Amino acid sequence: MVNTTIKTTKSQEIFTAAQNLMPGGVSSPVRAFKSVGGQPIVFDRVNGAYIWDVDGNKYIDYVGTWGPAICGHAHPEVISALHAALEKGTSFGAPSVLENVLAEMVIDAVPSIEMVRFVNSGTEACMAVLRLMRAFTNREKIIKFEGCYHGHADMFLVKAGSGVATLGLPDSPGVPKSATRSTLTAPYNDLEAVKALFEENRDQIAGVILEPVVGNAGFIPPDAGFLEGLRELTHEHGALLVFDEVMTGFRIAYGGAQEKFGITPDLTTMGKVIGGGLPVGAYGGRRDIMSMIAPAGPVYQAGTLSGNPLAMTAGIKTLELLQKPGTYEQLERITKKLADGLLKVAQETGHAACGGSISAMFGLFFTSGPVHNYEDAKKADTTKFGRFHRGMLERGIYLAPSQFEAGFTSLAHTDEDIEQTLAAAKDVLSSL
Ligand SMILES: *Cc1c(COP(=O)(O)O)cnc(C)c1O
Repeated sequence: MVNTTIKTTKSQEIFTAAQNLMPGGVSSPVRAFKSVGGQPIVFDRVNGAYIWDVDGNKYIDYVGTWGPAICGHAHPEVISALHAALEKGTSFGAPSVLENVLAEMVIDAVPSIEMVRFVNSGTEACMAVLRLMRAFTNREKIIKFEGCYHGHADMFLVKAGSGVATLGLPDSPGVPKSATRSTLTAPYNDLEAVKALFEENRDQIAGVILEPVVGNAGFIPPDAGFLEGLRELTHEHGALLVFDEVMTGFRIAYGGAQEKFGITPDLTTMGKVIGGGLPVGAYGGRRDIMSMIAPAGPVYQAGTLSGNPLAMTAGIKTLELLQKPGTYEQLERITKKLADGLLKVAQETGHAACGGSISAMFGLFFTSGPVHNYEDAKKADTTKFGRFHRGMLERGIYLAPSQFEAGFTSLAHTDEDIEQTLAAAKDVLSSL
């Protein structure tokens, strides 16, 4: 391990105290740096592409609060819209026009979505969509993919990727077998395996849910024909296709992965970007399916704070910023520069690596690859990643603290930020 060259005394004090107050000292597991070693830094504030920790160190950020900060942290237009919304109160628990505005934007943007329901997190959206899949098809089983994460609900905690993988837990204690008995899994990018599951479980499979581009097992894009194949198989078997676009929605393209790849699922879950940094999730899809949700239909799902005015405001403003011409070209260009640069640096310094980027999402695995699924991803050298991560942190670069997480860029990242990041990577990798 490289010696710590930055001063992090206050971070250490605060995190040490936190460990007595909250399990592992965090509100969400990956934040604790378990898989990269060392202590996490404690944030004080964020702005644009940057983070400042409580000791006053500045970092270039490639986590973007796990995705929402696609316009850059604390974008002045988002902040001022929030200030104005705040004056009118923090929560209504009743209809507001802001919900209509964001709903229309989501429906206009995302090909599969004809109606939408707002919730408070991606986890909630995925839980609700599962209930809806089962209700609509009157079937119980679902197919998910190894390494894909769909939130922390019981039914999905089977081979669930990053957070769980990071801790080395195959599953979670406390999840009853009855909850996961109907969850079938297949390797990502393996159509034959999906076909076999459909054959073995004829007329029992409600649908297939997946990350159309995986971010929670590291960055793994779909092979050519994979999404098309799933669309055909689900049609053929009377099952629903669900894209979990909590990560990819408004990031891979304005209309998400379904726009990027031209495959329209029946239902879609979203979160992260549509909340602009406030707690929001959403699910939507075909009108005939969504009409089953209460109170239009019998499938129950509710939320005290759902559709709250602050979250809607941050979401609306974020999407408005993303609609500006050239946004996704800029994200694509800057991210490709980073991802290609990292691979080149790894090659020059003699480290086996593979990775890539799509729009504002990128990844780097310390393995020669190629990585098509979670099994391939697990061949990556996590010890090396841990040392790389620490080295980058000490040089003012904040990467996701796990080999099994995708990286995120934003509209605030400049060419200079990328060049500085690549120089740091060269420095670190030369020393490993
Ligand atoms: C982050 C994420 C979730 C869970 O969202 P939360 O808001 O953390 O509950 C679900 N699915 C995918 C693909 C995600 O990336």
